[in-house]
Amino acid sequence: AKAKGKGNYQFFTASLNTAVQQRLAIESQLRNALPHGELLLHYQPQVDLRSGRIMSAEALLRWLQPARGMIQPLDFIPVAEESGLILKIGEWVLREACRQLRVWRDDGHAGMSIAVNLSARQAMQPGFSDVVAAILEEHGLPPEALDLEITESVLMEPSEENIATLRCLSAMGVRLSVDDFGTGYSSLSYLKRFPISALKIDRSFVAGIATDASDMAITDTIIAMARHLHLQVIAEGVETAEQVEFLSTHACALAQGYFFGRPMDADCLTALLRQQEQE
Ligand code: C2E
Ligand code: CA
Ligand code: CA
Ligand code: CA
Repeated sequence: AKAKGKGNYQFFTASLNTAVQQRLAIESQLRNALPHGELLLHYQPQVDLRSGRIMSAEALLRWLQPARGMIQPLDFIPVAEESGLILKIGEWVLREACRQLRVWRDDGHAGMSIAVNLSARQAMQPGFSDVVAAILEEHGLPPEALDLEITESVLMEPSEENIATLRCLSAMGVRLSVDDFGTGYSSLSYLKRFPISALKIDRSFVAGIATDASDMAITDTIIAMARHLHLQVIAEGVETAEQVEFLSTHACALAQGYFFGRPMDADCLTALLRQQEQE
């Protein structure tokens, strides 16, 4: 029994070391990803449910790692956040998304806007709103064309820096959306403290709106609340016609999900936008 115990212990330390080593390896590869040009953005359309038109797109980060292929954000964004690399990467995402939006606007989609995910660390950075202002100006974009998606966790326990940054961005005219709305177990008091413009209903609720009574009630309540607070509302993770039907009849204005399009490269979205102009 003793020998077995010892063996287990050795196995445990070995696998722990492997996990630590893997993390360190990801971190050092990620450090080079930006200078080596391995990061790219995919875009997922955000659709107006009444007209069926693409109004905006969410920029979603991808890492094309030469040895391992395409790496999904959930596998490296946590490492980027813990290591602080998210600051540089996040600024690149913002600049690249704005550059692409400029291209689409110049291609005849003048009203198009872009949504970019913001991590807590970025919003805590002193001078962040100045960086945003500079990037918008570089690309000749009005602040209203940019929508920053923030998770509830940032809004629930905001630092002084977060509060100052978010107020400043909103005063500039940048739109702020609450991402994954409903998944934080928060009080909703942050909705009073922050100049939020939209709620993004989490896809865990959207998944059941055609079949599950509590998902229907929750989604319906979020839509009604948004209307009373004069906030926009967008449903994420919309996959079926039944879900679209529910959202339309409950006056949800905007939706995003595989039903309308998976995250795609910029050229694919350009083609979709052009096709829409011809209809
Ligand atoms: P998120 O902001 O909630 O993004 C939506 C995620 O849901 C995306 O996964 C998207 O591909 C996926 N999705 C969209 N429609 C559907 C659908 O109909 N069904 C299902 N099952 N899934 C759908 P992705 O691209 O893997 O991104 C995961 C998360 O990574 C994002 O979640 C976001 O929190 C984070 N992320 C992505 N890009 C960035 C970035 O540039 N900066 C930061 N800070 N975070 C990012
Ligand atoms: Ca998001
Ligand atoms: Ca989301
Ligand atoms: Ca979500």
